[in-house]
Amino acid sequence: YVDRPDSLDAMLRRAVATAPDREAFVYPDRGVRVTYREFDERVDRLAAGLAANGVEPGDVVSVLLSNRPEFAETFFACARGGVVSAPINTRVSPREFGYLLGDADPACVVTEESFEALLDSPDCGTDIPPILVDSDRGRPYADPSIEETPPSVPTAADDPASLLYTSGTTGEPKGCVAEHFHLVNGALNYRTCFDTGDGLRTLVTVPLFHVAGLVANLLHTVANAGTTVVLDGSDPERFLRTIEDERIEFVLGVPTNYVLAMERADPTAYDLSSWRIAAYGGAPMPADSIGRLRDAFPGVALCDAYGTTETVGGLVTMCPDERTDDYAHTIGLPTPPVELAVVDDEREPLGPNAVGELAVRGPIVVQEYLNRPAATESAFDGGWYFTGDLASVTEAGFVELKGRSRDKIVRGGENIYALDVEEVLVVHDGVLEASVTSFPDAVLGERVLAAVVPKPGVRLTEDALWEHCLENLADYKVPELFRILDELPKNPGGKVLKADIVPEPLKYGIRAGTSE
Ligand code: ATP
Repeated sequence: YVDRPDSLDAMLRRAVATAPDREAFVYPDRGVRVTYREFDERVDRLAAGLAANGVEPGDVVSVLLSNRPEFAETFFACARGGVVSAPINTRVSPREFGYLLGDADPACVVTEESFEALLDSPDCGTDIPPILVDSDRGRPYADPSIEETPPSVPTAADDPASLLYTSGTTGEPKGCVAEHFHLVNGALNYRTCFDTGDGLRTLVTVPLFHVAGLVANLLHTVANAGTTVVLDGSDPERFLRTIEDERIEFVLGVPTNYVLAMERADPTAYDLSSWRIAAYGGAPMPADSIGRLRDAFPGVALCDAYGTTETVGGLVTMCPDERTDDYAHTIGLPTPPVELAVVDDEREPLGPNAVGELAVRGPIVVQEYLNRPAATESAFDGGWYFTGDLASVTEAGFVELKGRSRDKIVRGGENIYALDVEEVLVVHDGVLEASVTSFPDAVLGERVLAAVVPKPGVRLTEDALWEHCLENLADYKVPELFRILDELPKNPGGKVLKADIVPEPLKYGIRAGTSE
């Protein structure tokens, strides 16, 4: 990039000028293929449609849309009209939806028919007007009352472009105020660290409302004037079939996407020769899956991509040429524009290999949560964002993630990192997935609780798991309670909701023998 665009609209217009007849978006399930020229026209019409509905520059528009053509159109129409888009998790309950609308205070909600019931629900408690967009039915573009001249709204790099909500893994979702500057840099950052270029072909199976889908896939591809192929859902066979049919080069998904494609589909049945990069983030990839994935998808570079909503995606990546055995247990190096520090409880920097909270700074890091001065003050300071993740950095600069700070379990004064115990559990032959948390104890403060999902057809016993842990972990780290579950409680981003893993006996009262 010689000239870095200073707004999302400038980035789109650059792609339109570079490759007007190239396909910008493909929706295989709907048989829809849209070139950059056509996309640009649709964005114009939708921007005009929003203005005709009374939406003004600076307003917020909530976007409640599944992975369908109107998502990208609405997102860029907002950017073109100087409007702040606020994508919403499509799996929200009416109460959560009401909370998000109350927080963002949008001028309207752009949505599709299938969500009308959600808006009408009394639990949602909102009278914000919905705008139903449905290009199949010609709305709102074909409304004769809508002028088709889009408003021309100059946008500065530091104007807010989007309100991006965190996943709500650790509490209510927080709205990160992302400026055009952050999002453009976020998109270009992926281009640099994965060394992608003009005409890139990507596949999105993760939701577009989250930073992984939005920045790593959609914006990153537009920054390359490339083609984004969008699926709504992640059926493993469909996933591999689409990579073959659409000659996909780049995918960024959650670890589960690849593990399921390996275990529930037959990768050898597809021509995956176009596929160069399988990046994953949002949650840790179980250590033992990496080797199996390498065997299942030879020729595809598996890249760890660690990021948060506050950093509009990529902070640290493990690129293929760094993935030597020496660094296999790390998540990689900071991406080029990011400065990184590991700090202690007083936020003083720690030296190499010491575990502390990871703090980051750079042009992809937002600086504010909407309506949350206290949370803003505690998470952001002097340009730094304190991630709430625990990590250490090797002398060579590689980052080893230890999980969330709340995943540090302190048992009788000993620190135990949940991730260390999880990594031991998943190498057990019979274990498909594991998640480790704690349960309160009057004497020791906390004790270790492991939730484990067996591989299909395997009968796991608590004793076998306990013995396996005893062989592989220091004794104080060995879980004292196991729960064997059919599946782990997860949110749509693939993150385990640890607060929902509770020690079963506590349902009936305090378990005998929990105090020493
Ligand atoms: P909330 O802040 O509302 O609790 P959240 O932090 O889950 O939600 P996100 O911004 O979606 O919201 O998630 C970011 C977190 O996801 C990171 O802080 C980290 O804990 C985890 N994460 C992201 N990428 C990776 C990765 N590659 N490996 C391990 N964990 C990851």
